[in-house]
Amino acid sequence: MSHIYDTIIIGGGPAGLSAGLYAARSKMDTILIERGKFGGQTATTEELENYPGSIEDCTGPGLIERMKKQAEEFGTKFVKDEVLEVELDGKIKKVVCKKETYEAKTIIIATGAYPRLAGFKNELELRGRGVSYCATCDADFFTELDVAVLGGGDSAIDEAIYLTKFAENVTIIHRRDGFRAAKTSLEKAQNNPKIKFILDTVVEEAKGEEILEGLVLKNVKSGEISELKVDGCFVFVGYLPISDLFKGKIKMNDRGDIITDEDMRCDVPGVFAAGDIREKSLRQVITASADGAIAATTAEKYIEEHF
Ligand code: NAP
Repeated sequence: MSHIYDTIIIGGGPAGLSAGLYAARSKMDTILIERGKFGGQTATTEELENYPGSIEDCTGPGLIERMKKQAEEFGTKFVKDEVLEVELDGKIKKVVCKKETYEAKTIIIATGAYPRLAGFKNELELRGRGVSYCATCDADFFTELDVAVLGGGDSAIDEAIYLTKFAENVTIIHRRDGFRAAKTSLEKAQNNPKIKFILDTVVEEAKGEEILEGLVLKNVKSGEISELKVDGCFVFVGYLPISDLFKGKIKMNDRGDIITDEDMRCDVPGVFAAGDIREKSLRQVITASADGAIAATTAEKYIEEHF
């Protein structure tokens, strides 16, 4: 008979790693499956100014490394594998991965979210050739060059500030004149001499054959078309949940965010969700971490009651 874990955590971002820490500290037999890089979006966030206690020296990758080490020291087992299918019904849940199949009494889904495309012409053709979705990964390529940043949320503003350490000029292009980003960050960007704003504007097209050479812009109020010469274009227009694996198996909203109660229970017994994959109003490292802690604790109670 195969080994049956107490919990399988799918996803190794802050939600999954916190769930791992709390589950392992409760002496649950815990395995965490991650297909790519540990840390998810946090691993590509250079500065985390709003994680409590992290006034100095708090980078995303640094925090993730410490979170992983902590969960591992308490006994969470980590595997690198890609989940292909999940069987959530029944008392014992099954997670079929590329390399192996795992079984557990509970599952904690912490698969997070992926960057949304802006939808302009040539966006995909020039992806990796000037169009990027990760400043931490690609900023260095644009040292002393000109870049554009799309979006008006926290990601766009924070990453634009980060990009000023490398690029000569950073132009934030946003489709309206109001911002979702935190006011403190927005003010920091507005006071940065390297950052310019082009508002009420969308990108229609990326120009360039082999590499990005410029953007065709459209003012949404006047309809005026213009061109902006840039070497890089960083797209931060929001994220979508990574929930395809669970479609039709658990309750989710139209966007694909998984719906849980406040103790992270999904509508299938023994299945929990944590972090950006959930329908929620505040997506932050701290809320993802809190979700993970709650999910593990609720999973522990579920096992006590049902096994
Ligand atoms: P977001 O808050 O959803 O903002 C997306 C931005 O992109 C919005 O300004 C939106 O404009 C714009 N947009 C959406 N679709 C577009 C399109 N097709 N073309 C042009 N613009 C488009 O996404 P996010 O900034 O990636 O943040 C995601 C979550 O993570 C948020 O909850 C955020 O608070 C959190 N986060 C927090 C931090 C932090 O606390 N430091 C850092 C990063 C992310 P509209 O405003 O007009 O809709």
